[in-house]
Amino acid sequence: MNKVFIGIGSNIGNRALNIEMALANINGSVGQIIVKSPTYETEPWGFESKNRFLNLVVLIDTELNPDDLLDALQSIERSLGRKRESIVYQNRPIDLDILFFNESVINSPNLTIPHPHIGERMFVLKPLADIAPELVHPVLKKSIRIMAENCPDKGLVKKVDDSQLFGRSN
Ligand code: AMP
Repeated sequence: MNKVFIGIGSNIGNRALNIEMALANINGSVGQIIVKSPTYETEPWGFESKNRFLNLVVLIDTELNPDDLLDALQSIERSLGRKRESIVYQNRPIDLDILFFNESVINSPNLTIPHPHIGERMFVLKPLADIAPELVHPVLKKSIRIMAENCPDKGLVKKVDDSQLFGRSN
């Protein structure tokens, strides 16, 4: 069984519903969700938009290999309305990133693991630090807690109350 951390984000449509649907799809066709982080509201990173993201991280157990996992996650993204129209950052109903896959280091044309931008993005590091502060990045050899403390990202990353979030309209 593989232990995989997945970063989840949504900034358009019914964001909470998009995330709930993604979680249900992950549990149904990808693996078992073991731990779910709190959810954060965050400013778009790398592009201008008035639509804030909701971001969280889950730890899953899966029997899929990295390539099949990427295929499965992209299929969920498509089913939730994600279109890949450009390679630049953009609004998206759902974004699913493989952050860590066991302690694997992978650099293939389709897949970079650990995800290359983890250290720059508080919207990834904060929820990761909530559920796995002592996890050590297999390339940088630093814990998530230390990476979060040293992260230069000063964008808004605000914890939201899951009980209010899920069930409200957006
Ligand atoms: P994005 O638009 O940010 O979701 O990026 C999607 C593209 O990133 C896909 O074409 C993937 O092949 C590629 N990719 C590379 N590494 C990863 C990763 N660790 N997790 C998800 N997508 C990845």
